Amino acid sequence: MIPDKFDYHRPESVQDAVALLARYGEAARAIAGGHSLIPMMKLRMADVSHLVDLQAIGALKGIAVDGGTITIGAMTTQHELIASEPLARAAPILREAALQIADPQVRYVGTVGGNVANGDPGNDMPGLMQCLDATYVLTGSGGTREVTARDFYEAAYFTARADDELLVAIRFAAPRGGHAYEKQKRKIGDYATAAAAVLIAMEGGTCSAASIAMTNLSDTPVYCADAVDALVGTRLDAAALDAAVAAMQGAIDPQEDNRGPVDFKKHVAGVVLRRAIARAASRA
Ligand SMILES: Cc1cc2nc3c(=O)[nH]c(=O)nc-3n(C[C@H](O)[C@H](O)[C@H](O)COP(=O)(O)OP(=O)(O)OC[C@H]3O[C@@H](n4cnc5c(N)ncnc54)[C@H](O)[C@@H]3O)c2cc1C
Repeated sequence: MIPDKFDYHRPESVQDAVALLARYGEAARAIAGGHSLIPMMKLRMADVSHLVDLQAIGALKGIAVDGGTITIGAMTTQHELIASEPLARAAPILREAALQIADPQVRYVGTVGGNVANGDPGNDMPGLMQCLDATYVLTGSGGTREVTARDFYEAAYFTARADDELLVAIRFAAPRGGHAYEKQKRKIGDYATAAAAVLIAMEGGTCSAASIAMTNLSDTPVYCADAVDALVGTRLDAAALDAAVAAMQGAIDPQEDNRGPVDFKKHVAGVVLRRAIARAASRA
């Protein structure tokens, strides 16, 4: 199918883009890489009369690693995340996760902002950003505000972003300790059947801090506070791992679909979480 008719706008500043979003309201949509939005328009699942292309807004691009703080412009592509050596040194989990998104063709065009703003539970970056406790910087006609990734997702395709707001940047502290992004998918290029983003810090053989978020196991990404509590203060022994997996499985709410029935997804979620904890701990 081809999309319905739309007007195309190419603003050169955040202010102009926001003004267009405010003027046309629900009829307008920002377009970044277009790798989620254009398929939705072709399937007539997104009704867009005004497409606001963000490609000409230079202020939305780039990666800054400043001391312990990392700021990524919304229009930074997934390929640029993978290619950035400063980012790989400061937060290597970004490269590990981005390499598991789709394929190189998608990653050359797909942006981190589009990935996290989309609200698709299958996207890999939202769970990763919850694991990193990232903050999203949003600019709208009322000014700029910040929302944490853990508070941003409300339901599938529903987020805390207002219609006239643009996601301009993502900010987080460089993570401490070991990391892992573990993703189970049906084939190369597929969305996750289940994925786990994990950070683990160890002191003297004891887990001193952790962070865990799961992808595509609910209608939003799931930050697993109880699973974290099950690990912190332990030596990551079998009982702690079992408790963390049980807590995670109690927090997710997978639905049966062409990736499998609910019990299978919960099982796979446990497998990826155990693998991610083991790899993160081995790097801590
Ligand atoms: C074959 C294929 C396989 C894929 N596999 C995966 C996968 O395994 N994992 C994965 O995570 N993704 C996957 N994707 C999706 C891909 O990563 C998309 O590029 C990404 O989800 C959206 O980024 P985009 O820049 O293309 O955004 P777009 O498609 O342009 O936009 C997506 C949504 O976000 C909104 N938006 C975009 N930027 C902003 C902004 N700055 N402020 C406010 N709203 C904004 C748009 O209005 C739209 O609603 C796949 C895509 C394809 C085509």
